[in-house]
Amino acid sequence: MADLAALKRALGDRLIVPSNPQYPSAAQLFDPRFDGVHPAAIARCASTSDVQRCLEFVRTTGTPLAPRSGGHSYGGYSTTSGLVIDVGPMNAIGPGKSPGTARIGAGARLTDVYAELAASGTSIPAGSCPTVGITGLALGGGIGVVGRKYGLTCDAITAVEVVTAGGELVRCDENTEPDLFWAHRGGGGGNFGVVTALEFRTTRREA
Ligand SMILES: Cc1cc2nc3c(=O)[nH]c(=O)nc-3n(C[C@H](O)[C@H](O)[C@H](O)COP(=O)(O)OP(=O)(O)OC[C@H]3O[C@@H](n4cnc5c(N)ncnc54)[C@H](O)[C@@H]3O)c2cc1C
Repeated sequence: MADLAALKRALGDRLIVPSNPQYPSAAQLFDPRFDGVHPAAIARCASTSDVQRCLEFVRTTGTPLAPRSGGHSYGGYSTTSGLVIDVGPMNAIGPGKSPGTARIGAGARLTDVYAELAASGTSIPAGSCPTVGITGLALGGGIGVVGRKYGLTCDAITAVEVVTAGGELVRCDENTEPDLFWAHRGGGGGNFGVVTALEFRTTRREA
């Protein structure tokens, strides 16, 4: 395993290694089927620059990586024996750039998304499990009970902020890097970079 010292210096307590008391809970996925996979470290990223530092580390050391949002992957794709890039702390929810949109941090869980948007009388079509992460769900499509009326979760994405493998932060939408934007709407998580935030078209909640 590559030397984690430089990454530890950059991330401090946000880099969790097996000797940390928080390691068992930080390593845990929703499905205990993957309890046998022991990451060398879990980076609890709080900012885009944390994500960039992690990608620089895996790029220069050849360490395997797995991005994680809510940890509900049925295939265990958000864990690895290498470095887990956990965007959980990046969970802020607020207005998007255009009217009628919301910007949602990549680590937000559905329960927080629904609660925060409901406070302004809006919502997005998404899934029914409160602890599922918005990012894994939206990047893979996203099916929910209001889908017949409002479509898939990925249909409501208007922009994606993503750090590419080279470490560049790109905000893609239908006009900027449209192919990358297209790939993020149903292409599945973990394939095109590490997403740091998503922007969605919101709908007014019905009484
Ligand atoms: C109990 C349960 C209920 C569910 N209910 C629904 C439902 O109602 N509707 C529905 O459509 N689906 C549902 N799902 C499926 C769920 O949407 C997928 O499993 C989804 O991938 C989980 O997303 P996550 O962020 O929680 O998982 P994670 O395990 O964190 O991630 C899933 C995938 O996305 C990648 N990924 C995570 N974060 C990032 C990131 N920041 N950048 C790039 N890639 C990333 C991971 O590497 C992994 O490949 C359910 C799953 C479970 C276990």
